[in-house]
Order: sequence, then C-alpha cells, then structure tokens
Amino acid sequence: MDEITRLARPEILEMAASGPGPAVQPERDVLTRLDANENPYPPFPGTVDGLPHNRYPEPQPGHLLDRFAECFGTPRERLLITRGVDEAMDLLVRAFCAAGRDSILICPPVFGRHAVSARVQSVAIHEVPLRGDAGFELDLDGILDVHRSDPGLKVVFLCTPNDPTGNLARRADVLALCSELLGKALVVADQTYVEYSGDPPLSRDIDAHPNLVVLRTLSKEYSLAGEQVGVVVAHPEVVGIVGRIVIPRPLTQSTIATVTAAVTPAGIEYAHANIRRLLKERRRVEDTLTAMPGTRVHPSDANFLLVGVARPQELTQRMRRAGIRILDCSAVPGAGDSVRISIGTYRQNDAMLAVFEAHTAFGGPTATSV
Ligand SMILES: *Cc1c(COP(=O)(O)O)cnc(C)c1O
Repeated sequence: MDEITRLARPEILEMAASGPGPAVQPERDVLTRLDANENPYPPFPGTVDGLPHNRYPEPQPGHLLDRFAECFGTPRERLLITRGVDEAMDLLVRAFCAAGRDSILICPPVFGRHAVSARVQSVAIHEVPLRGDAGFELDLDGILDVHRSDPGLKVVFLCTPNDPTGNLARRADVLALCSELLGKALVVADQTYVEYSGDPPLSRDIDAHPNLVVLRTLSKEYSLAGEQVGVVVAHPEVVGIVGRIVIPRPLTQSTIATVTAAVTPAGIEYAHANIRRLLKERRRVEDTLTAMPGTRVHPSDANFLLVGVARPQELTQRMRRAGIRILDCSAVPGAGDSVRISIGTYRQNDAMLAVFEAHTAFGGPTATSV
C-alpha cells in the first residue's frame, strides 16, 4: 500500500513493527509469571475488585478488539486501541509529520486539541475555517488550495459531527477530499459523536479510501469518559504504522475490566437506548430554546447544542450561580456570541432551560447570530 507508506516518516518505517503485536497470554493461562519483573503480591490494601493489579495488562486486549469490531461495525484488523482520541491524534501527527517540515490542517471553529499535538511536534498548522455563512460546511476549495501550495501537508483533521458547532460534514465532501489527497495526505475524521447523528460512520468507506482514518471513543457514546479509551479505525497499513509507536499498554487492568463489562451485547444495547433518550431530549431542548427570544440554535448532529445568545458570559455566570456548568464559546474564533450546552437528563435540562429563559427575559435587545 504505497499510497500510505510513503506518507509516513522514514524513521518510523525503520522501526520494528512492535504493536499491536502478538497477544500476550491471558493471566488465567499462566501459572507462574517470572518474566516481567512484576511484584507477586497484590498492592495494599489488597485488590477489592480481585483484578491482577500487580500484573501488566495485555497491550491490545484481543477480546476487546473483538467487541469494538462489533461496536463500531468494522473488521478487527482495522482497529488500534489508544488512550482516548487525544492520544490517537498525537500518534498520527508523530508518525506522519516530520518536525519543521510537514504540516497539518484544521477547520475552526473546532475542538482545541487537534492543534496541540502539531505544536508539540513543531509541525505547522494551516487553518481553513468552516463556512460560517453556510451552516459550517467544509471549505473544500480552501483545503485543496493549501494542499496545492504546501506539499508538506500530511494530515487533514476533520471533526464530524463538529465540536462545538454540532453539524456533520457532508459525506460526499469528505470522500472527495480523500480521493484528491490519496497518496499525498491522510484525512483524519474525529467521529466522537457520530452515533448521535443518525448517519453511518465514515469507517465503512475505508475500503475505497485507504487514506481515510476515523477516530472513535467510548467517552461520549458509552458513558466512559472517565476511562479514556479511544479507537483508531483505519486501513491495516495505517494501523501497522501507528502501532509501532503506540505506548505498549494504553489501558490499565481496571479500565480493561470496566470496558469489558460495558461493551457486551447488553452494554451496547444500553448505550444505544441512552443515545435515543438523549436525542429525544435534544429535540425538546432545541425546540424550547428556539422559542425563546433572541436565541439562535444551530442544528446539531451531536449530544450538545451551540446556541447563539446575547451576553454569553453573563449567561454562563448565571448558570454557574444556579449550579449548572455550560461552555461559553464567545472566545472561540468563528463561533460568535454563543454557548455550548450538553444535553443532560430531562430534569437537568429543565433546570438549565429555566435559567436560560430568565436570561433572555431580562436581557437587553441584542441577540447575535452564530
Ligand atoms: C470529547 C471529545 C473528544 C474526547 O475524546 P477522548 O477519547 O475522551 O480523549 C475527542 N474529540 C472531540 C471532538 C470531543 O468533543
């Protein structure tokens, strides 16, 4: 797969392909482990959960890869487990972008972390803003202009559904970009929120577009933000390259045990049922906010709403006094005067809506658009 390997840094290709590597023997099959300098005693005060905390966890647990293949509807050899999406983005930049020479591209307004790994690696960052005048669609021409002017462009980061604007990129746009950039750059789509969109994930198009990489996480769809489990879904060639530099054991014994319980068939059904509940609430919250004077609710394909409103800072403080945290987005370039509100339970949303209503009722006349 030359279109992929020639994109990677030569130093990385020279490294032995270590991960995902052969599965280590599961603990239960080994009687005496004297090979890894582990401490044979359980940690103080004893493992109440009965997990082998004194033993190293499996690098890429095989049973989890099987379950994730089911969760994300993709063959297992396309998966690499990482410590959340944050680590996945960092690994992709380090594997494909040479410091001081190559570059990445992001489309603001977008979740800030996409740029951090590039800065750490001394990789230039191009910004091609989403089209604020057109529902925050991708500016395809703008992205291709950058590609033509900078041969060092190696990774285009997309976020779809996008955080904080909430909208899904048009599938045809993403795939057209992949075709244009084949052999030149990877298109990395952060699909943290895709299950809230009703659209099938982009990962099913990897066959036709081997430079497409999809990032998934258990944080938002499986209620596991506290465990930090991300999954790279990509062509096996990309998985092999990134697998060379992923830390040997991204997941702890505790995380593996927790996640194993959460991705059983019953666990997947539970997650989907919660997603359906949140979608119903998204609809209700959206309708209620839209009916308030001076608000502009941006259509959302995710579990949050970007809401244009006057004096977003004051609203955020008012919420805070009521014990509710929302995110003031007025400092995010391109987001305008707006706040981002996560969809909570029915009661949480009602409490939030009451404070919001008070803000719009007593506020001045100036509502700004997103
Ligand atoms: C919340 C969020 C993440 C976080 O992913 P982790 O797996 O928890 O690191 C990634 N991308 C976007 C766009 C998010 O909003």
